[in-house]
Amino acid sequence: MNAGGPATAEDLASWIRHAADLVSADVDRLTRLDAAIGDGDHGHNLDRGFRAAVDALPGGDAPPGKVLVSAGLAILSKTGGASGPLYGTALRRAGKALGDAADVDAAALGAALRAALDAVQDLGKAAEGDKTMIDALAPAVAAYETALADGSGLAACVRAAADAASEGAEATVPMQARKGRASYLGPRSVGHMDPGASSTALILRALADVTEEG
Ligand code: ADP
Ligand code: MG
Repeated sequence: MNAGGPATAEDLASWIRHAADLVSADVDRLTRLDAAIGDGDHGHNLDRGFRAAVDALPGGDAPPGKVLVSAGLAILSKTGGASGPLYGTALRRAGKALGDAADVDAAALGAALRAALDAVQDLGKAAEGDKTMIDALAPAVAAYETALADGSGLAACVRAAADAASEGAEATVPMQARKGRASYLGPRSVGHMDPGASSTALILRALADVTEEG
């Protein structure tokens, strides 16, 4: 994309494609994380979902919002587990927040990420500290908004968000799960990274990679 400029529909399509590639390369790692504190399907759930999202990417003159709505709907229809509805709804709501605008500036992308976080919280009712994807997504959105308020451009805001998501995922290791399948393990969920927090960090890293490409 243009260095420092707004993101286009093609940039967001590149994000979905790159996220699909990173998920596919990390299926085994995500599966191992979920095998430790869940049922071992997270890698395959996401791989199936992001492949479907890539297949559903609209062509032609579809606006950026439509790219994310289409990806979200594909993930919703093709992805099992708790994470499918959460990621699908998050992308759909992010796309809706972008509306029909032809490009996405740093403020608009921040509002879309905030809408994604709100969607996950509306649906899953998890708070920070519950050892879920919220522990990566909430600090990511906060870091994005701080960078934006400091006057950073879109790529720098996204990189701040991706870094915060990785730290947030790491910080789930000592937590005891209070939501989702891992909560059934009680104290035995301590000592493992939450798979959904890890995949959220991966998906935001994909966004940072494509927005920095220039
Ligand atoms: P399942 O748990 O149904 O097998 P996945 O393995 O695909 O689904 O996804 C598990 C991830 O979903 C968890 O690691 C966690 O991050 C996320 N998750 C589960 N429940 C919630 C929730 N209520 N709110 C937010 N995220 C959740
Ligand atoms: Mg699972």
